[in-house]
This record gives sequence, structure tokens and C-alpha cells, in this order.
Amino acid sequence: MKLVTFSTGNELRLGAVVDDRVIDLAVASGGVLPGDMIAFLQTGPSAMAAAQQALKETTEVGVPLDDVLLLAPVTVPPKIVAVGQNYMDHVREQGAEPPKWPILFTKFSTAVIGPGATIRWDPALTQQVDYEVELAVVIGQAARRVPAEEALEYVAGYTVCNDVSARDLQFGDGQWVRGKSLDTFCPLGPWLVTRDEIPDPQALAVRTTLNGQVMQDSTTAEMIFGVRELIAFASQAFTLLPGDVIVTGTPPGVGVFRDPPVFLNDGDAITVEVEGIGALSNPCAHDLV
Ligand code: ZN
Repeated sequence: MKLVTFSTGNELRLGAVVDDRVIDLAVASGGVLPGDMIAFLQTGPSAMAAAQQALKETTEVGVPLDDVLLLAPVTVPPKIVAVGQNYMDHVREQGAEPPKWPILFTKFSTAVIGPGATIRWDPALTQQVDYEVELAVVIGQAARRVPAEEALEYVAGYTVCNDVSARDLQFGDGQWVRGKSLDTFCPLGPWLVTRDEIPDPQALAVRTTLNGQVMQDSTTAEMIFGVRELIAFASQAFTLLPGDVIVTGTPPGVGVFRDPPVFLNDGDAITVEVEGIGALSNPCAHDLV
């Protein structure tokens, strides 16, 4: 299933995309399913089964995808766990040694925006805004001290993240969180593709295009620590909750390591995509105070 959080104008709803139409799952299930993604995920595997059943049995035809506003599939994740230097080809690009264990950092949930929403920044605050295509994992069940072999059972599904980064703040602060957490710097979407449709998360092409030009082009097979290892590693330290998002690192081709460097500008269009999930596009604009 492709699950979405969408708005028809008044309120946020939980939906499924079927043949370019969006079916409201609370309506299709006769009120059995909640109207909110996190409440849905918290219900666990029975909610997934109920959603599949509702889509099979409903006579609801839904509304055309083009007529709704898609938001991030999880609009306010309880937390976002991000991973630095997690692609072998990206580590080589920086002339660095591969890390011995995952380098975790966070992006604040106030940075989350959906597909088509504008990435905005004040040029007085940062002049080095960069893109990073990433496979994003959405947690479905609370996970604590989970072994790698069982880790995928805790995954609800996958979406795409653009880990937008203010490089001057990221590297100038000696600490990444501010440069990674500006408002609008965490586009997620366009939908959550449920785990059953992605049998191997380590075999997906990932790509970024900036104004139509390919900037990153790799595969999740290059990850140093795969999705299973990341969930196992993180959950030894802290509990992962339903709706938490793990953004799994980026391949080479980011703007800051190019010669000459390339940074995002007012008026740019940036698209990040992951095979089997979809493409997430966002315009860019200066946010003048
Ligand atoms: Zn990243």
C-alpha cells in the first residue's frame, strides 16, 4: 500500500493511493481505522491488515491525487534519527575512513514539510544550503534492544527524505543539529510505501536532480550500515516509537563536495527519489525577514 497524509482543505486525513486516486481509510473502513497516521501506526499490524481489507471491500472511489494536498506521510514524527557518512561511495568522496559504528544525529520534527512545499531559508543565516537524497524508514512498532535479524519487523514502511543541510552552520557549529534542523529542511514523502512492497531495502536506486540535472545517482547497496543494523544499533540506546523516522544517509554528489561547490538557490527545483517508493520534489525560495 501507498499510505498518505492528505488534506482536502479542512483537516488532515489518512489515505491510501490506488490508481492515482486517494481513498480516505477512515471512511473506507467504516470508521474502524483512525484518521491519523501515527494513531494508525500505533494500532500495529492489525491496522495494516484492516486497511488492506477495507481497500478490497470498499465502494469508495476516493478523489483524484491531483485534487488533494499531500503532506509528509508523518507530519510530526516523535523523533527523526539521521545517520552521517553511511554510504561507502560518499565516504570515499570525502577522502574519509568509513565509520566503525553509525554516526547518529537528529533533525527536529519542526523541519518536516511535504511534497511540493517550499524549502525556505534566510540568506542572512545561511548561504550554503545543500541537498541529500535518503531512504527514510518509518517505524511501525516500539523497538527496544532489537536484534538486526528481527529489525525489519518493526518497520511500517519507507518514504523518501531530502536531508537539506546548511553546510556553513553544520560545519561552523562543530555540531550538526542546527544546520540540519532549519524549518522546512526535512521534506518527506510523497507517501509511505508499506514494508511488504520493499522486500530488500538494500537494493534500491537513489537519485537527486537539481533543475533537471542529475546530481546524485547511487544505490542503497552502498550503505555501510543497512536498515537492519541501524535499527539494532539505535534501539540498543533508545526506544524507537511508531512514527519515528530514520533517515539512512546519503550517497556522493552532494553540493558541498563538488568542485566548484553547488548550493541551492532561490527559484531552484530539487527532486530526490528512491526506486520502488517515488519522487519527492520541492521548490526553493529565500525567506526574507
Ligand atoms: Zn543526511
